[in-house]
Amino acid sequence: MHEMGAKAPKLLIDAMLGTLARRLRWLGYDAAYRNDLPDDVMIRIAQEEERLLITRDRQLAGRRGVWALYVSAATVEEQVQEVASALGPSLHPPRCTVCNGELIAITKEQASLVVPDYVAQTQDVFVKCQRCGRVYWPGSHWPGLQRWREQSVDRRQGQSP
Ligand SMILES: [Zn+2]
Repeated sequence: MHEMGAKAPKLLIDAMLGTLARRLRWLGYDAAYRNDLPDDVMIRIAQEEERLLITRDRQLAGRRGVWALYVSAATVEEQVQEVASALGPSLHPPRCTVCNGELIAITKEQASLVVPDYVAQTQDVFVKCQRCGRVYWPGSHWPGLQRWREQSVDRRQGQSP
């Protein structure tokens, strides 16, 4: 249905799958989520933005000309598995779980203005959503960010100060 490779397709997540959308963003999928639009509008957005529609609506997924993946699992863990096994793992850095924006590295000094003191004192690397401004830092339950942090540190060290 889609040529699998390093580049996972952009996704449009249908209503009822908001938790899945957040999980997929954290795994690095570009996962737009809308829960307030009629099917026809969802289909149009998916086509215009070349997004694969992820839905629990079997009828919608089966409509002619609609590029969609039907997700049957009830739990979010299984849904993530379904999507990942269909698309392959995302190799992209995590995205903002709140708004799907791209995350960029910011300095500890910049972060210290917005994060709690104990976080600024104990963490060294921070990322910020370019769209909504939310700041994240590596946590033990966020292995994706940990991995990206190591990569971004490598990149920074490759640049002259
Ligand atoms: Zn955001």
